[in-house]
Amino acid sequence: MNHYDTIIIGGGIAGLSTAWHLQQALPHASYALLETGTRWGGKVKTDVVDVPEVGRFVVEGGPDSFITQKPWAMRLAETLGLSDRFLGTNQAQKQIYVIQQGKPIPMPDGVMLIVPTQFAPFALSPLISPWGKLRMGMDLFIRPRRDGEDETLADFITRRLGREALDKIAEPLMAGIYNAEAEKQSILATFPRFRTLEENHGSLIRGMLASRRARPASAPQDGARPRSIFLSLNDGMNELTDTLADDLTGDLRLNTQVTKLAPRPGGYGITTDTGEMMTARSVVLAIPAYAAASLLADVAPEAAAQLNAIRYVSTGTISLAYRQADIRRPLDGYGVVIPRSEGRAINAVTVSSVKFAQRAPDGAVLLRCFFGGSRRPDMMEVDDEELVRTVRSELGELLGIDATPLFQRIYRWFNANPQYDVGHLARVAAVETALPPGLYVTGSPYRGVGLPDCVHQAEQTVAALTDGLTATRQWEQEKTAFS
Ligand SMILES: Cc1cc2nc3c(=O)[nH]c(=O)nc-3n(C[C@H](O)[C@H](O)[C@H](O)COP(=O)(O)OP(=O)(O)OC[C@H]3O[C@@H](n4cnc5c(N)ncnc54)[C@H](O)[C@@H]3O)c2cc1C
Repeated sequence: MNHYDTIIIGGGIAGLSTAWHLQQALPHASYALLETGTRWGGKVKTDVVDVPEVGRFVVEGGPDSFITQKPWAMRLAETLGLSDRFLGTNQAQKQIYVIQQGKPIPMPDGVMLIVPTQFAPFALSPLISPWGKLRMGMDLFIRPRRDGEDETLADFITRRLGREALDKIAEPLMAGIYNAEAEKQSILATFPRFRTLEENHGSLIRGMLASRRARPASAPQDGARPRSIFLSLNDGMNELTDTLADDLTGDLRLNTQVTKLAPRPGGYGITTDTGEMMTARSVVLAIPAYAAASLLADVAPEAAAQLNAIRYVSTGTISLAYRQADIRRPLDGYGVVIPRSEGRAINAVTVSSVKFAQRAPDGAVLLRCFFGGSRRPDMMEVDDEELVRTVRSELGELLGIDATPLFQRIYRWFNANPQYDVGHLARVAAVETALPPGLYVTGSPYRGVGLPDCVHQAEQTVAALTDGLTATRQWEQEKTAFS
């Protein structure tokens, strides 16, 4: 039976970066990284599709980029030597559209996340009614909430900016891009910055304006290119997870599902689906919360109950490639988001070939449509043929695209999107308190779903774990010395 200092379960970005940070912190510690799938990366999944006589497409099934304002994924990529592979977003065509009565309307310039920060484009925009604009402006005068209590994103936006801002800007962005439901989503777990801005500046608009003024000038002093807020890698997001996996020196195993976890003297024992047993002083579970709950049911029932309360939804993406010449109307922005009130079968469309260079060859277009989620769970169940038919009909009606795609790729992510409902942070704290020494949970179900958050949590988990391992080692050395 193999024994390690640490066993890490799950080979997504969280498990891979836990292994990597552990390797940096304790180069002599032994570890195993166990992944049930046939490849590393989990939800990070890039496919390269070569179309004869057209060229090469880079298709993302999961994340297409990471945000650099949260620096942890970027720093990890830099340390892995990937800086010269960074691919920023297209700064020349940044427009996002919102579907209104079936037509794409430009999101006004200067709307940062959900907050207007430029007067003229906002005032002139047809997206929001005159009353809706007035109501958003009232944010400047509404008394700030400073009690530190959680609330839903919907309550927060309605309170500060009004119902129209929620329906036309915040909800479509949340549902389309973050797969989240504003009516249930915790503001403190997902956008704590908004509450901080409210607390510190008395108003979201004033806060956003102040943080924009405080940002360094967009052209860096050393003459380097301004850094994009979102970064990908030239050959897609799998470049990050593949490089990470290549850098790991532990016992790495694919096609290995952990089916059982039990306490053992001095640590824990795990059993895999092939019946193999392994032991370790500590175990990190970098897997979905419900999967962690099932492994922890006997070892830590209280933690397992809290983990089971973290809700998941299923979503999918379908990427479709076209010849540019077959598309009548030019697509000049990153894509469209679709309010729930429009009652469409898809939630959002990204124009991947505009958002990033190198995603489609010259003369071709790559689109990515988001479907499923809590709005349309039925879309997860339709077969491929019907899905393609429905999505093509939506693209025809909304964007005037009736051409036959060169190819399409479908990715269904069942029970893959953890939902940070109100009270989420308290639930996560309860899980952490209820876990016995030597057991850790990390990754997207807990303190941030984005890739940078997962890398950051991995770093923090390793810090806690190394403290634990060092303390056990000292105790064992002292015990040996005195015995
Ligand atoms: C469509 C989509 C688009 C997204 N877009 C972005 C984006 O643009 N930017 C961004 O930052 N984030 C984005 N995200 C979120 C981000 O991709 C995920 O939150 C993140 O990749 C999750 O990483 P993870 O390691 O926590 O989990 P996962 O990637 O789910 O990894 C967990 C791994 O554990 C394995 N596993 C489960 N059970 C066991 C077991 N018993 N034994 C062994 N292995 C097991 C699974 O096979 C899986 O590989 C997106 C997510 C989706 C679905």
